[in-house]
Amino acid sequence: MTLAQVRRAEAQFLVPTYDRSPVLFERGRRCYLYDSTGKRYLDFLGGIAVNALGHSHPALRRALTEQSRRLFHVSNLFYHPYQAALARRLTRLSGLDRAFFTNSGTEAIEGALKLARAYARLGSPNGHRPRWRILAVENSFHGRTCGALAATGQAKYRAPFEPLLPGVRFVRFNDVADLERKVDSSVCAVLLEPIQGEGGICPVTPAFFARARALTRRHNALLIADEIQCGLGRTGRWFAYQGYGIEPDVVTVAKPLAGGLPLGAILARERAALAFQPGSHGTTFGGGPLACRVALAFLETVERERLLPHVRRVGAYFRERLEELREKYAWVKEVRGQGLMLAMELTRPGKDIVRRALERGLILNCTHDTVLRFLPPYIIEPRHVDTAVAILADVFARMDAEQRSPEKK
Ligand code: PLP
Repeated sequence: MTLAQVRRAEAQFLVPTYDRSPVLFERGRRCYLYDSTGKRYLDFLGGIAVNALGHSHPALRRALTEQSRRLFHVSNLFYHPYQAALARRLTRLSGLDRAFFTNSGTEAIEGALKLARAYARLGSPNGHRPRWRILAVENSFHGRTCGALAATGQAKYRAPFEPLLPGVRFVRFNDVADLERKVDSSVCAVLLEPIQGEGGICPVTPAFFARARALTRRHNALLIADEIQCGLGRTGRWFAYQGYGIEPDVVTVAKPLAGGLPLGAILARERAALAFQPGSHGTTFGGGPLACRVALAFLETVERERLLPHVRRVGAYFRERLEELREKYAWVKEVRGQGLMLAMELTRPGKDIVRRALERGLILNCTHDTVLRFLPPYIIEPRHVDTAVAILADVFARMDAEQRSPEKK
């Protein structure tokens, strides 16, 4: 099928939820994607933080092929060898005690919210009103299902679907005084992204995170870190919270976990995890043998190929190169982020830059209208950074020239 045929068919048969770029991808290899015309693209978005090992990594291919010969699915009514193995690995890396596997990020958030409500009921004798309020943060993004959406601090996503899950209240991002005012004995959880992703790569301040930890501890509420975008190596650490020296009670992960197969997880401290009993929560697909086996291969590969220090090194180099552009163009306001989760905030809309970069064979993304977001695979090398920056520099130079003499457009 050609791009035009696929576009016509999608326009007719799909629920119109996506505004896709006009490219039909057919295959991927390491940091590159190839479209139906054979054109090559350098992928600095990685399927929105999913393809952390790039495309078609041999270790993931091996795990997938081998497992697909044995067993795809058994449901959670039975055992298979890989769920516990993956849980053990994730608990070692995170310092948490137990895992529950989901199919996506938003489901991990749903489960974490349920866990917080279940945990709050534990110490509540009959008749005593349990703590039920969830404090989330403005400008956050936690997913599209009704609970995760209710906790997403951006009215544009929530408003068309209200009323959503009741009992969520928002705290101003990084406003310690607002947090202190709102954490009280009605709160069962504080939910935050250590680095807001969709919100524009905005890190939580150490003071805010530390205060959220201290206040949740004081009120016996759970501190939930949503690491669905910033976790599993993206910042050059396994988890972004490790860079703050803070230990959350619950952590959600997903995106890169199974290298593109749908898999997420809720990781929880023992006392929180045991608030769920058999029957409290469940899923048909979550934690199946195929996805868990590939996830084990993903984690092993990050370790074997020493990708965490690599992410820190190549991320620092990328950041430096982006700073060079910032110095040159007044409409680049700020470069921020950690490891390979980087952003460039502009004083103008970024959509046109993303389109022009795509035409030149570079994939990136724009969030919040003015923030260029970079989430490349952990395996990129400085030469890939140089190529990406050269394309961006070319796009910027042309736009700058057009701005100076609009008739050239
Ligand atoms: N939480 C964060 C921080 C995210 O970035 C996302 C997705 O972008 C989600 C939750 C939702 O994950 P999913 O799209 O897998 O449902």
